[in-house]
Amino acid sequence: MQLTRLPGLRRRALVQAVSLVLALTPMAAPMAAVAVAAARPAETRVVLGKMGQIAGRLAPERPVHARAETRLVFAGLDIDGDGAPDFANPTGKAPRAWDAFGSGAFGARRDGGHRHHEGVDYAGIAGQEVTAPISGFVSKIGFAYAGDASLRFVEITNPALGYVARAFYVDPTIEVGAAVRIGQPIGRLRTLQDHYPGITDHVHLELMKTDGARIDAAELIHARRVTVRG
Ligand SMILES: [Zn+2]
Repeated sequence: MQLTRLPGLRRRALVQAVSLVLALTPMAAPMAAVAVAAARPAETRVVLGKMGQIAGRLAPERPVHARAETRLVFAGLDIDGDGAPDFANPTGKAPRAWDAFGSGAFGARRDGGHRHHEGVDYAGIAGQEVTAPISGFVSKIGFAYAGDASLRFVEITNPALGYVARAFYVDPTIEVGAAVRIGQPIGRLRTLQDHYPGITDHVHLELMKTDGARIDAAELIHARRVTVRG
C-alpha cells in the first residue's frame, strides 16, 4: 500500500496513527514494568511513583524537576503616555485581605458602615522599604492620627500628572520638598500591632486627583497573576 494513493484525509489519519505509535514506543518498556509491578499490591506505591515519572516524561514542556508557582505582579497605568508607568505598588505585595479589622480594599466598610475605606492597603512587613507610588515632590509629612506621633504618612504631589498620593504608616527617610521618582525608597514600614493587634501590617495608600477626589488605587495599579517555573 502506498500512502500517495490514499485520499488526502485517510492518508493524514494514517500518518497521525503511525506518528502516535512511534511517539509511544519509548513508553512501552516502562509501562510494561509498571504493569508487572502492579500485579503485586505491596508495590502499589512504587508503581504510582513510576507512573508519576512516566507522566513527567510524557509532558516534556513541564519537566518533573520544575516547580511552577504563581506570583502576583503589579503594573501601574501610563496615563501621560510617556511609555512608563505613572503608579506603583509601594510595598510590592498583595492588597491586605480580610482580617479581624476588615478588608483593605477601597470602599470597604469601617465603623459599622459609618465610613468607608478611602485607600487601598498593601500588605507589607514591618521595617521593609516603602517606595514612592508616584513621581513628584514631597508636599507633606503628616500624622495618621491626631495626638499620636508614631504613625506618619508621606504625601507626594505631581502637578503635571494631576495626582496626589499619601502613603500611611511609613517612617520617612526623605524630607518635605524633596523630589522623588516613582519606585524610589521613601521610608520604612511601621508596624501597626500596637494600635491594632493582629492586623496585617500594611501601607495604606490614598490616591487622589489634585482636587481631592479619591481614586481606587487598584484601578491604577493592576494586579496580574503570572506562573513562574523554576
Ligand atoms: Zn487603609
